[in-house]
Amino acid sequence: MIYDYLIVRFGELTLKGKNRSKFIDRLYLTVKEKLKPFKQLKLKKHFDDIEVQLNGEPMQQVTDVLTKIFGIQTIRAAIKVENNIESMKKGALDIIESYEDGIKTFKISAKRKNKRFPMGSDEINRSLGAHILTNTENIKVDVHNPDINLRVEVMEHETRIYGKDFKGAGGLPAGSSGKVLLMLSGGIDSPVAGYLMQKRGAIVEAVHFHSPPYTNERARQKVIDLTEKLSSFGSQVKLHIVPFTNIQLQIRDKMPDNYRMTMMRRMMLRIAEKLAEKRGALAIATGESLGQVASQTLESMNTINEVTNLPVLRPLLTMDKVEIIDIAQKIDTYDISIRPYEDCCTLFLPSAPKTKPNREHANKFEAEFPIDALIQEALDGVETIDIREQSDKTLMDELL
Ligand code: ATP
Ligand code: MG
Repeated sequence: MIYDYLIVRFGELTLKGKNRSKFIDRLYLTVKEKLKPFKQLKLKKHFDDIEVQLNGEPMQQVTDVLTKIFGIQTIRAAIKVENNIESMKKGALDIIESYEDGIKTFKISAKRKNKRFPMGSDEINRSLGAHILTNTENIKVDVHNPDINLRVEVMEHETRIYGKDFKGAGGLPAGSSGKVLLMLSGGIDSPVAGYLMQKRGAIVEAVHFHSPPYTNERARQKVIDLTEKLSSFGSQVKLHIVPFTNIQLQIRDKMPDNYRMTMMRRMMLRIAEKLAEKRGALAIATGESLGQVASQTLESMNTINEVTNLPVLRPLLTMDKVEIIDIAQKIDTYDISIRPYEDCCTLFLPSAPKTKPNREHANKFEAEFPIDALIQEALDGVETIDIREQSDKTLMDELL
């Protein structure tokens, strides 16, 4: 392997003015933590980028970790050479020759950060270009659409030559947007919603409602597996499992058929709000998408949302199912989500729940319902699963 360094570039971060250094610090902490398994790496934080010195660690594996971390725009593989034109020529040619499949066209883009370097950028471009043309066959210069754009950066004490780019995950670094409580079912949608919240820099904790013995151990395991998947994106996710059987039985016995679903959701949201308060989350996120099912019409959202003052964030609101599935496949949650174990939502529900519930009816039906006692009982039974490793625990404390 030819490359010595990976240069991690920030993207959107550069726009963030005063907060910039905080953002970079957070990103640096996350990168450092996630790369811990690679013992030989050396990391350096610069104003514009983070430099990862490979020291023999496998570039592809390190890159695989980096491309999942939010807040990173691009990862560039680079070599470092001395600040003289002969070393640059050799380095540039080495990179070109390292492409096993061969390339047909190239371009050199030199930039001088060190203005004392005796050659101008154009001069460097021409000199390196000529060197490559003389020492290779069947390769041409194409300044508009080259197979490879060799970026050359003349720095204060050395020169970097970038050969390969990897696209980063974009978004904002973990912790830059505070904490969100994600309502996580075992379905396809809510894990995607969680991923998108993480992408915008939120630390996610998840809450799942389950109804044993009507829902089984495998349904529970499914949610744990989904939580683990989400944890691979920047920050570890804590999972709160809430016992929901009694509430569902009470709803079945005391609520009109066609309002059961609305009532169930209102109870879920009330409990989620309490948990959010306790865990310091400022918003709740769900996997709802407008009009997808009966509980996701505007009327339903209006009636369900009434019970909380917290913002309910719905990152999938305007997406079609195919778009959601696309992301689920990309982030590798799809195969877990389609395992055939039902969560509590389908229990005791009529085949045709009301698509246009209203607040007035909902409040009337709830008048005699022991809301507070049921919520308290559920909260007392919460089981919290912490799948993070010890080291990541400290990381999360530092990020928030
Ligand atoms: P998903 O694919 O996320 O299960 P869905 O299309 O099945 O969504 P619903 O069953 O109406 O839609 O659920 C809407 C949202 O309510 C879910 O995206 C999730 O955020 C939340 N939710 C549903 N069931 C549960 C549950 N058992 N525990 C926690 N949250 C839930
Ligand atoms: Mg579902």
